Formats: sequence, structure tokens, C-alpha cells
Amino acid sequence: MKVIIARYGEIHLRKGNRGIFIKQLEKNTGLKVADERIVCEYDEKIFNKLQRTFGITSVSIGEQVKHLEILDEIEKMRFDGTFKVSVNRADRTFEYRSPELNAICGDIILKNNKNAKVDLVNPKTTIYIDIRPNDRAFIFKHRRRGPGGLPVGVSGRGLSLISGGIDSPVSSYLGAKRGLSIDFLHFASPPYTSEQALNKVKKLCGIVANYSMNCKLFVVPFTKIQEEIRKHCKEEYTITIMRRFMLVIAEKFKYDCIITGENLAQVASQTVEGIASNNCVAGNSLVLRPLIFADKEEIIEKAKQIGTYETSILPYEDCCTVFVPRHPIIKPDIKKVEEEEKKLDFNKLAEEAYNEVCIHKVVSLEE
Ligand code: ATP
Ligand code: MG
Repeated sequence: MKVIIARYGEIHLRKGNRGIFIKQLEKNTGLKVADERIVCEYDEKIFNKLQRTFGITSVSIGEQVKHLEILDEIEKMRFDGTFKVSVNRADRTFEYRSPELNAICGDIILKNNKNAKVDLVNPKTTIYIDIRPNDRAFIFKHRRRGPGGLPVGVSGRGLSLISGGIDSPVSSYLGAKRGLSIDFLHFASPPYTSEQALNKVKKLCGIVANYSMNCKLFVVPFTKIQEEIRKHCKEEYTITIMRRFMLVIAEKFKYDCIITGENLAQVASQTVEGIASNNCVAGNSLVLRPLIFADKEEIIEKAKQIGTYETSILPYEDCCTVFVPRHPIIKPDIKKVEEEEKKLDFNKLAEEAYNEVCIHKVVSLEE
């Protein structure tokens, strides 16, 4: 029978939580874990999904046979070039030891394939024979790397602040990779920001949802807050106060943590002092910034790898780009920021915006 064999990683190491991880992996894939692997009949859709499922370290397509059928299966193989046979004898009762079976299979392959040649160091093809208990064995030629990480959901729930730029989709992906189940929060400022800009954010969420699952996108109107800031506060504090509003509103959703794409010193508002000025408004909430020390090149590379880059660079405006001060304050002093905020009804504006949230179901683009 042609099967998919998927293996999981790190969850191995964390013995205490193992049961929880395996249950989550089974829930996320809809497949059963037995004998430390997922094995199911081959299906292209499942194969593709497993390659995007956090917690999976490698995926192979192969044949499942009974122990007595192993040599018949090897007899059928036809290929050219260098090869080696790699036997894993997980069932210690199997009649041949690994080196013996290696040699027997190698001889069969050489006999049937005139252009095949053994190369133990750098073979073109490796034939894996994995002998499992309960009269099962798997024979496969390729091992594809899975995405690694931990099954989405085992680390709790994270609310990711997503802007439509390059950084925040990557930080959301990294949160999901460490087992956070992700929902998104976006601040939109119509009519200053367009429907296309919002569609772009929805698309980015859809791409990240290929890796996380069942995501929601919360869209909170930000226009009134931005207009009030512009009317009443000193221009150079605009960005600082906007960021603080974002975090105060994010807290109201009561997730286990908040994720942002902030990156140290990338822009004027992301200095240590700038980040500290929004960190302190978040009360007791944990704000995670997975990209804090990454270089822009590294972030771009990751964005290309996960498939968000091309969408992120589409030139639509973000609420942060429509009211930019000419000279944003680079090292904001918290006391002065608070003085500026006193000119507004901060809590009421935040509460009103929160109450006007629109909830969208995120459609994973691959499904
Ligand atoms: P990005 O590529 O994520 O837009 P950036 O370098 O442009 O990053 P900023 O615009 O300064 O960063 O925003 C920093 C972070 O604040 C973003 O990564 C995101 O987490 C959050 N953020 C910014 N704008 C919004 C928005 N409109 N809605 C929700 N979160 C936002
Ligand atoms: Mg941005």
C-alpha cells in the first residue's frame, strides 16, 4: 500500500507534555499518531498539508509492507545511479540484523539494476527500510523536511497585530510555529485607508492560516482615534500614542499574549524608548516581539519562504502611514506622553473602538 509517513520532533523531548502534544497533533491533522509516527494512505492533499503542519519534522511517501514482503518489494525496484540502503530495525525480533539486511538488499538491487552503484558516503538515492513492530515495515526513498516547531494550540492563544507590512505576517507565523493558536487584530482607518488595503491584510492572514488554523481576523476602526490625536496632541507624539492605543485595545480581547512585528531601531518609533513607551501601557499583558533582533534581510527571506512577501509589498496605505508626523519623537519620555494623552478621553476612545470590532473568519488559501 502506498502510504505517507510523517514524523514529529521536539515533542519527543518534552516527556511530561507529550500526551498533550500528540493529542493536539492528531486534532490538527485529523490523523492518528501510533508508534511515534503518522501513517496514512497516500493522498496528495494530506501530503501537502502535513508539510505545513507545525510539529512535523519530516514526511515521506513510501510503501507499507509486511515483514515477509520486504525482499519482494526490493526486487521490484528499478533505478540508475549511486545508492545506499539504510535499515532501521525498530522491531528487535526481526530475523535479520541491520547490516545483514543492508547487504542482502544491496545485492538484490545490484542484480536488477545494471546502472546502479553503491556509494555509502554521497549516494544519489537512499533506500530506507524501517522495520516496525506488529509486522509493519516502510520502504521509502525520500525524506522531506517538515516545518518543525510545535503543534498549533499547545502554547495557548496569541493575538497578532497585523499591519499589511512585511514584518507582522512573519511574526504571526513564528508565534504559530511555537505552538500558539493565532488570531489577528488589524486597525483600519477608512476612508483614509482603502478596501484594497483591508483585502490585502485578509490575504496575508489567509497565507499565515495555511500554517495555523481556524483563525479569526478582528478589524477595529481607528479613524476617530487618529483624528482625535491629530486634533489635540503634539504632532511628534502621534505614532507613540497610536501604538499605545493599539496595545490597550488589544488587551481587551484577553488572549494569553499579544504579538507584534516590532523590530529594534527599524524605524524612528521602534527605539528602545519607543518600544518601552508602548510596553508599559500594556499592563500585565505579555507582549511578544518575535522579530525584535532580526535583520530586515532575514525577515524578507522568511517572508518569501512562507509566501507573504509578494502580497506585503503591494503598495496600499496602512493607518500608520496616513497620519505620519514629519518628525516623530525618537526617544519618548513616558511622563510627556501621558501629558499628551490627558488631552484626550483615552479610555473612552479605546472602549468605543473596541466595541465597534468587526470579526472575519480567515479562509486558509490552500484549502
Ligand atoms: P510591518 O511590516 O509589520 O508593517 P513595520 O516595520 O512597518 O512592520 P510599523 O508600521 O512601525 O512596523 O508597526 C509595528 C508593528 O505594529 C507591526 O509589526 C504590527 O504588529 C503593529 N501594527 C502597525 N500597524 C498596524 C495596524 N494597522 N493594525 C494592527 N497592527 C499594526
Ligand atoms: Mg507597518
